[in-house]
Amino acid sequence: MVQRLTYRKRNPYNTRSNRVKIVKTPGGKLVYQHTKKIPSRVKCGGCESFLPGIPTLRPRQYATISKPKKTVQRAYGGVYCGKCVRERIVRAFLIEEQKIVKKVVKDSAVAPKAEKPKKKASKK
Ligand SMILES: [Zn+2]
Repeated sequence: MVQRLTYRKRNPYNTRSNRVKIVKTPGGKLVYQHTKKIPSRVKCGGCESFLPGIPTLRPRQYATISKPKKTVQRAYGGVYCGKCVRERIVRAFLIEEQKIVKKVVKDSAVAPKAEKPKKKASKK
């Protein structure tokens, strides 16, 4: 005969937050044991790959552990992966370089005989 089991908390519905597993007590009875929700792993904000070095916990548990355990020692550590950070740094650098080039080109076009553009061009 199949033993019928009852929830042990005041939530009567079979929802995601009301998951149980069946365990056998020392007295030989089967009872429901209420389980916590399964946490999802922390992903990179750019490429959605899993971030190594960051523990997988439920949100409340992150508040109980110290900051060094939730991050890695890098700019955007614990948010972006190393590859994405490198890409962002390179992209920002190239954009800044592009701005300087544009400025130099514009200055030389406006006043080709002036001395100032020459100085900037040599600096670059
Ligand atoms: Zn990434």
